[in-house]
This record gives sequence, C-alpha cells and structure tokens, in this order.
Amino acid sequence: MSLLASGLGAIRRVGVLALDLLYPPACLACRRAIAAQGGLCPDCWRAMRFIEKPFCARLGTPFGSEIFAGAVSPEAQADPPVFNRLRAVACFEEGPTRTLVHRLKYGDRHELAAPIGRWMARAGEELLDDADLLIPVPLHRQRLAHRRFNQSVALAREIAKSSGVPLDTGLLARVKATPPQVGLNRKLRAANMQGAFAVAPRRKAALAGKRLVLVDDVATSGATLNAAARVLLRAGADRVDALVFARVVTETRNQSI
Ligand SMILES: [Zn+2]
Repeated sequence: MSLLASGLGAIRRVGVLALDLLYPPACLACRRAIAAQGGLCPDCWRAMRFIEKPFCARLGTPFGSEIFAGAVSPEAQADPPVFNRLRAVACFEEGPTRTLVHRLKYGDRHELAAPIGRWMARAGEELLDDADLLIPVPLHRQRLAHRRFNQSVALAREIAKSSGVPLDTGLLARVKATPPQVGLNRKLRAANMQGAFAVAPRRKAALAGKRLVLVDDVATSGATLNAAARVLLRAGADRVDALVFARVVTETRNQSI
C-alpha cells in the first residue's frame, strides 16, 4: 500500500513537473513568471485589497480601523439585506481584482477557479462552518447557452472541495432573463431582479430548514443576492448567507449618502 502510495506520489510529482514545463507558472493577474502555479506575483499580491476585520457583520464591507468587530454598518442598518451575512475576499475596485473577475468570466477560467475558490473558502470560513449547502447563483439558460460556463458553479465546486460543504446546482433556477445591471442605481437593480429566481416546487423539501450559502463572483448592490435569498427563504430555507470573490465597496458607500 505504502509502495503504491509513494508510486502515485512520484507520478503526481512528475505530472506537476510536466505541467510546469508545458505551462510555466505565471501570475494569475499580470502573467509575469512566478515560482509556483496558481498564485499572484509579489506586486499583484501587494496590490490586492483583501477584506479583513473589522468589517460590517452583515454586508462584509470594510470599516475604518477604530470600529469594533461585530458592528453593523449604517448602510446595513438603514437598508438591511435579505441575506444574513455577506463575506468577500477582496474589494472589486482596487488592485488586480477586476482583471481576475474578468478573466474568470470570459477567459482563463479553469486555472482561475481553483485558487479563487480556495481564497473564498478561507474568507467564508465563518459561514461555511455550519452550512448545509452551497447554492451557486444560476445564469438564465439563454445566457448559459451563449457563454457555456457559469463562473459561480466553478467557484462553488472549488469551495465545496475545500470546505466539505456540498453544492446543489438544481435547486435555484433563473427564470427571467434580466438585462445587465451595469449603469443602474440600487433601486433599479432591485426592481430589475424581481421575479428573476424560482425554486422548483418538487425541490422545496430539499431546502426546508437548511442553512445555505449563495456563491457568486461579484456583489455590487447586493440586488442579485437579495433576490435569490428572498426566494430561498420563502421556499423554507432556515438561513441564507452569501459568499463572493469581490465586493464593490465605494458604490455601496456612495449609495448610502
Ligand atoms: Zn502579477
């Protein structure tokens, strides 16, 4: 057995070496050569704005230095989200995050989903600890047919691998092809998402009393996550949290003014 295990280990090491020769490790954001696959170069790493405590307990938006942990931001108090808590790896507007999101969606998605999913599993530890199911935010079938890839599913698969929380891609459906949210304000985004999601009636039993974590690549106003959370809670879920790679931070701040 141990001989077999060491043999397999050797094969795996040879495999990694062969992969490195074929595809020399490159920074996920700027493609500069780096030492190992699946990472960022030191410059891009330094430029990432990772979201760390203290942040709003509900929205996951970073606070200035002096606010105590567990506090809820004025935005969340004024307009509480439908979901329970949102956690994000990084701020969308700063550093290479936008590039990574874009490449995940339209380009080199396979090499990116694994490391980004691992970062998300770490950022969402608190939510994943006692979660029952991961629910990737679905695309409408027309958009999926056009794009052939849902980045949220790819990320949820990686988070499932890291956390052990299973994913369910068949529970939540996108039943309305919503126009793009770009350029819409917070109110219009929420209106745009109305009726966008549905839970298949025969799957409602699978939801009852479950603690769910919605998975998406980016949260802007939170309208998509709120719409999905509302439908899941109405269908009987016990709790809905949300985990994204990138969080738009300045927009939500500006919206609250
Ligand atoms: Zn780089």
